[in-house]
Amino acid sequence: MPVVQQDTGATVWFVGAGPGDPDLITVKGRRLLEQAGAILFAGSLVDETATQFAPAGCEIRDSKDMTLEQMSAWLRAACARHRTVVRLQTGDPGLYGALVEMTRPLDAAGIAWKVVPGVSSAMAAAAAAGETLTLPEVTQTVILTRVAGRTPMPAGEELEALAAHRSTLCIFLSITLLHEVQRALRAAGWEEDAPIVVVQKASWPGVEKIVRGTLADIKRRCQDEKIASQAMIIASPALGARHWPDIARSKLYDPGFGHRFRKPSTAASAAAAVVIGAAAPAGESA
Ligand code: SAH
Repeated sequence: MPVVQQDTGATVWFVGAGPGDPDLITVKGRRLLEQAGAILFAGSLVDETATQFAPAGCEIRDSKDMTLEQMSAWLRAACARHRTVVRLQTGDPGLYGALVEMTRPLDAAGIAWKVVPGVSSAMAAAAAAGETLTLPEVTQTVILTRVAGRTPMPAGEELEALAAHRSTLCIFLSITLLHEVQRALRAAGWEEDAPIVVVQKASWPGVEKIVRGTLADIKRRCQDEKIASQAMIIASPALGARHWPDIARSKLYDPGFGHRFRKPSTAASAAAAVVIGAAAPAGESA
């Protein structure tokens, strides 16, 4: 049956607020906040300062204590009064953000909605720690995942199975389950000295914490730092690469590798070493 359009002309914008630093929202997201008639923000993870761009008179509500039904009803009611309604979510709305649960009732009510992507905490955590998530000949794959909590993992997505790839793992929603992360990585054959970094409140001005450890000691280190929430766990064979004596060279900036914007130089190619020593200029070895 076709959807009956409730033609209010309103749109609900699901805007990624970014990981915490209010400056990490996109320009588009910020412009929408500036035009918003109503903003429903996820106060458990988005700091209220993120709503600082809202115009005077904007209806602003924290959704922390609301059920999905209450949020849906609030968004629909706001659409009857305003053209621009913003649902402000942490990081990127497409990752662990209950997006579909919120858009389905809007579809059913014939209300238009759109998504504005955001900087995910996975990227913010890597940035805070000065780490790369991919490295030539080490790992070219990033897995964004979690371990089972109250939400079970679908068959085949158990951390143990994913960790068998030995790629970068960005593990969300699992800081209180570090023992389970350790068990799964061990079962997948990761060494006890495999590096792991945990970043709590990545990008939040003044409160971000970075804990570096190994598979063997990361849980104890996090306990020592009292990290029990809002933390990203990154396990990756690329961690700490900036301190390695040598790394394989990326084709991207290789003098012998031509592309649309640069011709290959055969002389330079012959002279170029296959590996880059630790003294290579920063930014040229990506
Ligand atoms: N959509 C969000 C994820 C929401 S799920 C995103 O793209 O980042 C909430 C989980 O995200 C937390 O349990 C934690 O693992 C992670 N998280 C959110 N903000 C964080 C931050 N600033 N620093 C570290 N981890 C964060």
